Amino acid sequence: MPRLATLDLVRYAALMPSSPPPGTILGVWAHPDDETYLSAGIMADAVRRGERVVCVTATRGEEGSWDEERWPTATMGEVREGELLRSLAALGVTEHNWLDYYDGTCAQVPKDEGVARVRTFLQEVRPAVVLTFGPDGMTGHDDHKSVCAWTTEAFQSAAPEGSRLYYATQTPEWAEEFVPVMNRFNVFMEDGTPPVTPRDQLAIDFELTPELLELKLAAIEAHESQVEGMLNAFGKDYFRRAMKAEFFRGAEGSGG
Ligand SMILES: [Zn+2]
Repeated sequence: MPRLATLDLVRYAALMPSSPPPGTILGVWAHPDDETYLSAGIMADAVRRGERVVCVTATRGEEGSWDEERWPTATMGEVREGELLRSLAALGVTEHNWLDYYDGTCAQVPKDEGVARVRTFLQEVRPAVVLTFGPDGMTGHDDHKSVCAWTTEAFQSAAPEGSRLYYATQTPEWAEEFVPVMNRFNVFMEDGTPPVTPRDQLAIDFELTPELLELKLAAIEAHESQVEGMLNAFGKDYFRRAMKAEFFRGAEGSGG
């Protein structure tokens, strides 16, 4: 095989649907647990390869109580902050930042402000890889859609050279197998969610090793207030099957 220049290697890695290309990863999400479901394996793998991983979360998910007696809304933000930090610790991710918005209000934040907040992280972290929701918001949640809009616009104006923006997606096969079960908990809120992308059009098609999958399970279980009901209803093996791969498509115009 002829020797490849670094740039070619980066291009090669980007063309091979598997891991994201090498370099710092910035994930921008809406609530504690979004990062885990959609990118825990990618983050843990990158940390192990010595890459910097920075996670930004817009809100503390204060409105996310499934059981007001056990998890009162008044203390939900604190509870979920602790859960997120324990979850990231399980993955080895040490850099996390809040945007400090209140759960469910991202669509009311002036767009320029949201964009400016995300732009600061692009400028300070200078990531090679930016992971976020697509315009569909994955589940249809308005906060997810806002975070996508902010991140996309910030990326368009302040992307570090050579960096790529990726949108979380699922495959048609995944949706067929898992959506009907998950929707017993109303995970996917509207038609067109989750988004699906055929496997041959994915930019990242990351299959977790058994070891990474167990780490991801631990990270999911750390979000106890969110996942306890689903874990009891579906069992851990269901989660193992549903969580064993992470899929992203390249955002239009980012070259990803
Ligand atoms: Zn969310």
